[in-house]
Amino acid sequence: MQWIFSGGSTVASEFMLAAVRAQVDSDVTWLVSSSAEHAARFSHDHQIPKFTSSLDEALSDSDTSCVYISSTNDKHYAQSKAAIDAGKHVLCEKPLALTIDEAKQMVSAAGHADLVFATNHHLRCSGSHRAIRKLISAGEIGEVLSVRVHHAVHLPKNLRTWRINDVKGGGGVIPDITVHNADIVRFLLSEDPVAVVAQSAASGMGRGVEDSCMSVWSMPSGAMVMSHESFTHRFADTGIEIHGTRGSIVATGVMTQQPVGSVSLRNVNGTKLVPFSNHSLYSRGVADFVSAVKSKGVPAASGSDGVKSLAVALAVREAANKGQLVSVNYE
Ligand code: NDP
Repeated sequence: MQWIFSGGSTVASEFMLAAVRAQVDSDVTWLVSSSAEHAARFSHDHQIPKFTSSLDEALSDSDTSCVYISSTNDKHYAQSKAAIDAGKHVLCEKPLALTIDEAKQMVSAAGHADLVFATNHHLRCSGSHRAIRKLISAGEIGEVLSVRVHHAVHLPKNLRTWRINDVKGGGGVIPDITVHNADIVRFLLSEDPVAVVAQSAASGMGRGVEDSCMSVWSMPSGAMVMSHESFTHRFADTGIEIHGTRGSIVATGVMTQQPVGSVSLRNVNGTKLVPFSNHSLYSRGVADFVSAVKSKGVPAASGSDGVKSLAVALAVREAANKGQLVSVNYE
């Protein structure tokens, strides 16, 4: 299976190239970047045989069947639509787009063309989160009362570009991290947030966009979710806690790109560590995508999952801007 990578990005170089190359008979044929110079350098550094600054040129290569899109957020919509029009399956980075309308158009275009369209929400591919989901669905903690998501990190220097200062490019911690929190909560609880309240801030890095946010979401079951994300927390750990009527799951260090962290289950019998697989999150995501392309499975996170995580993030931003409770609009 030959891939086009659209976007000479950090996530492509650090994780996704290896994830594609970990699959049987898969490799990346093309690197597309808006800068011809960057495309040349990136493809040379990563042994990608062809490069171009024209997405159409790469899409016209009939030896390729899949496109991975990891350009800045404002470009996901147009690049996805072009790839779908060219008959390619698409694995698109989060957030799928800047608006729900665009994201829904991407999903429906792929559906009409009978192509796989998936969102690269890596967290739900991790052994830790898959183990947590199993515990919850097996009733190990009873009815879920609340979830606390700790996802405040210290943005590495090399990523302090469009993310911290470019509204039009899709910058800000809400499109960057709140979407992941929304996706993982939906994945773990199998329900979609209904309404949110929030406050956001620019606390040192953000210029014109928020770099920190705290929000509270209500779920259809009555469970409450607290989500904290930031770019400015140098010494904070990440984690997620799910508290239920019969037990609590406490996971530390698991809101990350690596297969690390710990998961423990607490109940009347005490606390026990929960074992989980330490496979690569990104390789598992690509493997699930490839299975879907071969009609042997479904993507880890579908296009609709990407629409829903974006809807929650947009509601959080609106709630923070207005200082009001906002209903999540999935339409
Ligand atoms: P980067 O900031 O590393 O790259 C984004 C774009 O900036 C590139 O696609 C490229 O544009 C341009 N660029 C980067 N470096 C250079 C350079 N040296 N010279 C010229 N242009 C350059 O983005 P990230 O990897 O952090 O994020 C990319 C996308 O992936 C985003 O949508 C983000 O939300 C998502 N992401 C997802 C993660 C996940 O775990 N699912 C993790 C991290 C990011 P061009 O497209 O023109 O080549």
